[in-house]
Amino acid sequence: MNLIFLGPPGAGKGTVASKLKDILGLPHISTGDLFRAAIKNETDLGKKVKLIIEKGELVPDQLTVELVKERLSKDDTAKGYILDGFPRTITQAEALETFTKIDSVINLEIEKEKVIKRLSGRRLCKECGEGYHIEYMPPKKTNTCDKCGGELYTRKDDNIESISNRLEIYTKETQPLINFYTEKNLIKNFDSSLAADKVVENVANFTKSL
Ligand code: AMP
Repeated sequence: MNLIFLGPPGAGKGTVASKLKDILGLPHISTGDLFRAAIKNETDLGKKVKLIIEKGELVPDQLTVELVKERLSKDDTAKGYILDGFPRTITQAEALETFTKIDSVINLEIEKEKVIKRLSGRRLCKECGEGYHIEYMPPKKTNTCDKCGGELYTRKDDNIESISNRLEIYTKETQPLINFYTEKNLIKNFDSSLAADKVVENVANFTKSL
């Protein structure tokens, strides 16, 4: 089963996709995570994309498509995958169609005001990447990951300037994908303002019908 997670930054794509990964037994492929790993490891790709990502802009289509194409060629995607944060432009979506077939697009809907609150309170584990929110999903011990004890950090692009840039880019570049996939009868909308576990349950139930 090949799934795409669509939705504005802060809609909870990463949180929901990472829980669905365990339920469905499919790899969760987040282009944002792949880029952040490249930056952390100071690879050539990481050096190219560091500033772009910090400012909240989009990495060029060609680089991003190549990265995804290579990742989808790995054996663990044989039974399917969950794509999170890709495609983000029509060009990327058209390129994706040339090397794979999508079964459904999970569109997480949320109001923009909620997104800003979610992103500015978001914290991630430096070690395992687990996500938290200082108000809605706080760790048991301040600044410490419940899962692995790692230190929590704030993403460099979760500042108000980058957040508004990312939202503007979402509206201009990514939102048109809703029409693109609606025309192909692939879109399924979910209310993502609900608690994360409820959204996961709703999406998991839907995937049973696929
Ligand atoms: P995310 O973790 O999905 O919020 O992605 C973090 C950042 O990585 C984005 O703000 C972009 O700068 C970059 N990025 C992730 N996915 C893509 C994509 N499909 N196309 C271009 N840039 C991307």
